[in-house]
Amino acid sequence: MLRYTFSILDEHYQQLRRSLLRDENEYGALLLCGRSRQIDPWTGVVEERVLVREVIDLPAEAFLERTPTSLIWSTDTLFKLAKRAMTRDYAICIAHSHPAEALFFSERDDTADKESFEIVFGRMDTERPHFAMVMDRTGEFLVRAYDSSVKPHSAELIRIIGDRFQIRYPGRDMIAAPIEFDRQSRTFGARTTEDLAHLRVAIVGCGGTGSAVASLLARCGVSQFLLIDSDRVDITNLNRLHFSTRSDAIARRFKVDVVGDAIAQIGLARSVVRVKQHVDSLECRDALRACDVIFGCTDDHLGRNFLNRMAYFYMIPVIDMGVLIDPNEEGGYDSFDGRVTVVQPGYPCQVCRQLISPQKMLEEGMRRSDHARYEQYRRAGYVAGGNDPSPAVVTFTTEIAAVAVNELLHRLTGFRGSQGHCAERVRRFDWIKDADMVPSGRRNPDCPLCALRKFDGRGDMSPFLNQS
Ligand SMILES: [Zn+2]
Ligand SMILES: [Zn+2]
Repeated sequence: MLRYTFSILDEHYQQLRRSLLRDENEYGALLLCGRSRQIDPWTGVVEERVLVREVIDLPAEAFLERTPTSLIWSTDTLFKLAKRAMTRDYAICIAHSHPAEALFFSERDDTADKESFEIVFGRMDTERPHFAMVMDRTGEFLVRAYDSSVKPHSAELIRIIGDRFQIRYPGRDMIAAPIEFDRQSRTFGARTTEDLAHLRVAIVGCGGTGSAVASLLARCGVSQFLLIDSDRVDITNLNRLHFSTRSDAIARRFKVDVVGDAIAQIGLARSVVRVKQHVDSLECRDALRACDVIFGCTDDHLGRNFLNRMAYFYMIPVIDMGVLIDPNEEGGYDSFDGRVTVVQPGYPCQVCRQLISPQKMLEEGMRRSDHARYEQYRRAGYVAGGNDPSPAVVTFTTEIAAVAVNELLHRLTGFRGSQGHCAERVRRFDWIKDADMVPSGRRNPDCPLCALRKFDGRGDMSPFLNQS
């Protein structure tokens, strides 16, 4: 048993709509896609996720016949694309429109798709699936996968990733809100609650902000959690770590266990997966790739850098946050800010936003691998910022967690209107008027991730994330 899912950027979706729905006759397009294959930690099922990298607009000559209810392709284009896809084991998705018919794969489609995928599998030496899509006149679409025995399987989940975040799954139209979420459904409609229950959400870092994000998401109806943190609770965490108790600190329990047990006990979430490792460790790879959204609640730079790359390679939106309180010697503050940054293809990356410091990454790497040497360096004053814990107060970590969760809610519902999305929002906690700033963010023109966009939807490759 496999679970097939499909991710497309909104910019590609819009391009595809324009191409396929150009007139009253059926039209076709080809999509070149990266792949992501992992074990879904919630079900143990292998997921084959396809990530659209490129929409190939075809000229009218690519079709031998077009009518409102039929389309006959010339096979040339497909041959050429199969050749191109082969070198990197990309997936091919064959898309066409039904401008006059309902949203379904017709018998004619079954025959045509089978013929096409026999060509594709004949040309490409791969066991991995390829995909077919049909779009109706409203722009809604269905996707199915073809395995190497050329049998079709419906995609269980479709994600459209842009300034809004949309998902589609079977049964989305036939829902009633569970009574627990009655008040929320009166705000956003039952469908938003259902969408939240379908998402697989990672929280990376279960400290002050992460524990607050977990609490808020659980009460919003997120049902499938992945918690990642290698740390244990200590007595200095009690001032801000939601759900933690003195006995947790004395017993030195893992943060993911304290937070995981607590959100399970609320009685709303279905499943909480915990990983007691650094986010960039091998143990986290499958679980993270199986997610739909990732909340970055870590202040370590190695972790943030890893998630920054994941966001582009796997087209998984990362909602990253941080609080920076910096008292100065005059009794004031050099900064008293919180920040929520959304990282995904089309937005500036966190390296370009200068939220990831190569120096800090080196230091963290050393601290992990060679603690004695790290201590030597630190005492000699070579470590920037030293080892002092940063100032933190629960009200501010919790406030920024709420800003982060509301960003997801906006992306799912659109409650702030068509221009309500923020790629980055900085909140000055010490200001009353105009406390929020929305920096546009700069991109280094040479950045392969966010400026050259070399890796949008690249998916699985060796080395992982193109990092050795
Ligand atoms: Zn059709
Ligand atoms: Zn960049």
